[in-house]
Amino acid sequence: MNQGKINLLDLDAAGLAAFFSQLGESPGRERMRARQLMRWIHQGGVDDFALMTDVAKVLRAKLAEQACVQAPALVRDSTSDDGTRKFLFDVGSRNAIETVFIPEDRRGTLCISSQAGCALDCAFCSTGKQGFNRNLTVAEIIGQLWQANRLLGEDLLQRNSSERIISNVVMMGMGEPLANLENVITALRLMLDDHAYGLSRRRVTVSTSGIVPGMDRLREECPVALAVSLHAPNDALRDQLVPINRKYPLVQLMAACRRYLERAPRDFITFEYVMLDGINDRDRDARELLALTHDVPCKFNLIPFNPFPNSGFRRSSAERIRRFADVLLAAGVVTTTRKTRGDDIDAACGQLAGQVRDKTRRTQSAQQVAAIGDQQAITIREQREEGIWRH
Ligand code: SAH
Ligand code: SF4
Repeated sequence: MNQGKINLLDLDAAGLAAFFSQLGESPGRERMRARQLMRWIHQGGVDDFALMTDVAKVLRAKLAEQACVQAPALVRDSTSDDGTRKFLFDVGSRNAIETVFIPEDRRGTLCISSQAGCALDCAFCSTGKQGFNRNLTVAEIIGQLWQANRLLGEDLLQRNSSERIISNVVMMGMGEPLANLENVITALRLMLDDHAYGLSRRRVTVSTSGIVPGMDRLREECPVALAVSLHAPNDALRDQLVPINRKYPLVQLMAACRRYLERAPRDFITFEYVMLDGINDRDRDARELLALTHDVPCKFNLIPFNPFPNSGFRRSSAERIRRFADVLLAAGVVTTTRKTRGDDIDAACGQLAGQVRDKTRRTQSAQQVAAIGDQQAITIREQREEGIWRH
């Protein structure tokens, strides 16, 4: 029914204005129309043009003919004992993506996916283990927020209170946002637009594994809060855990962080650091991290590793994580440890797997991949014990 129609969820303010001028809207009015449509679609959650009562009937008919508002369809909705809610959305061709809502005392955070699968293959990440399938469209990215607003009963048009159900968005779901930058930037513009979701730049966070040119472009085009997945204090270990490091090693990454801060809405970078037992969690790793990041204003967010079948890694003990945090704290670096939320429904970081057709895009069977995962962790651990990582 919607075939051949323009999906208005794909368009930000500028895109909508261009669409309206193509539709024949008189010059000068297309931006007003764009704002009007954005309010209905994004703030009211309306997908039926017939309900847009302040739009002229003739125009509504034209819209119904040529356009649609189509978000990915919900296929599963599960709620964890701790209130974390996980939505599974169908994005066609047997691919599904996950979106997680994390309610907290004074805020609600929506964790959004940017790709079906991920090509970057970090050693400890379940999404990475699936391989890459495709980039999500703008409609599929912003559609997660659009759907979550509706499913959580948020009506921004009616809402007088500034206490939003979804107060923060983090691009920390499946995929690497900076590897799908064009679409991610358009979606970010909608998140920030006062006529759409009106979130402040400080409340929208992009998390990256460290794609340096993407960081520079984000800085130029749409600087929002930035989290960088560091996970290792030196290149030798990071090359193994986060393979994109071989292309953009730490010296380049740290320089990109400093450049980003010149335009960032917050005056620090958040470094994410997954705590892997016996791999990257010793006191001396923490000290090496301090040396590495000494000239980058930053905070650390330690993420206890979330296991998934055959990952080959173990989570560091709570005591080890506490002591690691203490080393950073003692040096005056703000350090938080992420509470593991939603792990009973596999909604925790790195557990998002969705369903991706042609899961690995590699020739190995799932079992072989799992065995490689195990072997990789053992090799990293052995090499480390032999002191190969020491500098
Ligand atoms: N691709 C982006 C964003 C998505 S992943 C990135 O890598 O930053 C969001 C965070 O979860 C990243 O810091 C990622 O390294 C971390 N993560 C991945 N797998 C994990 C796991 N099994 N346990 C804990 N954190 C994990
Ligand atoms: Fe991709 Fe991020 Fe997972 Fe690495 S951690 S494989 S970049 S989703």
